Amino acid sequence: MKAKNRDCLLIGRFQPFHKGHLQVVKAIARDCDDIIIGIGSAQYSHTAENPFTAGERHLMISRALQEEGIGNFFLVPIVDINRYAIWVSHVVSMVPPFSRVYTNNGLTRRLFLEEGYEVSSSPMFNREQYSGTEIRRRIASNDQWEQLVPKAVVSVIKEIDGVSRLRDLAPSQRREVDESGAGIGEDA
Ligand code: ATP
Ligand code: MG
Repeated sequence: MKAKNRDCLLIGRFQPFHKGHLQVVKAIARDCDDIIIGIGSAQYSHTAENPFTAGERHLMISRALQEEGIGNFFLVPIVDINRYAIWVSHVVSMVPPFSRVYTNNGLTRRLFLEEGYEVSSSPMFNREQYSGTEIRRRIASNDQWEQLVPKAVVSVIKEIDGVSRLRDLAPSQRREVDESGAGIGEDA
């Protein structure tokens, strides 16, 4: 039995959605009724930091949670607006109502607290390995990464040819493409 009726928000970039994120969602599921997952920096894809589109991340998360039998979630892509003072209202305007935010990010915490939301931090699970940065590094450099993400995420990444994409986006590869004059004119 849950102590209270409450809907909770978790925001991340999920590049990609990994087992640390899954542990957080499972922990939140014990305390909350509905879980709203905001897919941040939704407008970005095809960069080394943000390789996957919002739609691909949506697929990773929904299939991974389905695989775990978790059904009480909403997924909402959220584009960056780069104005911190109004960022909370931007998020609020995009997602179903919620009363508590889960985050480990100091800025996110501050911004939601200032707007009167309850903010909780979630414990970090195996952070050395369950880290988007580390997983992207492993994929790009052909190290083992599959065990760090839910099975459903391995399938999505393979389906969209994500491994080759990450290798092509690695800084060393990009330089070669740019030097050959075949770049597309952005320096992300
Ligand atoms: P990146 O290295 O790309 O920043 P990340 O692993 O930090 O990736 P985010 O999408 O930035 O993932 O994080 C979304 C949320 O998930 C953040 O609040 C973050 O603190 C939390 N989180 C990330 N990794 C873990 C983990 N291993 N255990 C618990 N929470 C995590
Ligand atoms: Mg992060």
